[in-house]
Amino acid sequence: MTKYIGAHVSSAGGVQNAPLNAKEIGANAFALFTRNQRQWFPKPLKEEDIEAFKTNMAECGFEPRYVLPHASYLINLGSPREEVMKKSRHALTDEMQRCEQLGLSMVNFHPGANLGETSVSECLAQIAEGINICLERTEGVKAVIENTAGQGSNLGFTFEQIAEIIDAVEDKSRVGVCIDTCHATAAGYDILTEEGYRTMMKSYEELIGLDYLCGMHLNDSKKGVGSRVDRHESLGDGEIGIALFEWIIRDPRTDHIPLILETPNPDRWADEIALLRTFETK
Ligand SMILES: [Zn+2]
Ligand SMILES: [Zn+2]
Repeated sequence: MTKYIGAHVSSAGGVQNAPLNAKEIGANAFALFTRNQRQWFPKPLKEEDIEAFKTNMAECGFEPRYVLPHASYLINLGSPREEVMKKSRHALTDEMQRCEQLGLSMVNFHPGANLGETSVSECLAQIAEGINICLERTEGVKAVIENTAGQGSNLGFTFEQIAEIIDAVEDKSRVGVCIDTCHATAAGYDILTEEGYRTMMKSYEELIGLDYLCGMHLNDSKKGVGSRVDRHESLGDGEIGIALFEWIIRDPRTDHIPLILETPNPDRWADEIALLRTFETK
């Protein structure tokens, strides 16, 4: 099985450069920012950039369903500050509209943080309400919730919390999940052994469900199991080690979803992808 593997590539100079950058590292899937992720109100996409993106997608042979854009890190749908919550809803809506314009079908985001000021369940309910509002304002694009490392007051670090958000989302056909291996490790899922990986996936299937799985982020972790610290590392150089990534690549549950590297050294992405390809079964 040929898996869909790529990295979160640069879109510097315009979104149309992302497919070219992904092609260069031997990817058949990729992630990108569709807007300046450090700004609340970036400029709209230019019509010519949208057209060039679509042309480059086709010429490089990428299928839109294997592209998983990452939303701005500023977004916090669970913020107890009303202004930040409103700006976050606006920003995620804008992210989804950009995906519509680019012909893409999903956007991945971090659920949010309560800053220790509201209860966990209040914050999760507020995140779900934000997702409902963004889905109402857009069409055809899935809101994909990424599990977090649980650093600071970030929620969504357990599958129970993600399930609680999804439970309160009205249109369940337009919500999904992306599992980040560094975040899962930091959050306390011990996936350093094959049995540990199977246990995590079983727990994911029972609490959330495979139908919701829209992607995975393949990252090693600088910090150990349960550290609650979000520090990505190149594959094989961190606390996780290379074996996990072989189990993931050989797992048929990851056959039809984008598998995205967010490892810190872009110069190694081509080699990391080539290594992952050696784990593919025929
Ligand atoms: Zn992320
Ligand atoms: Zn990630």
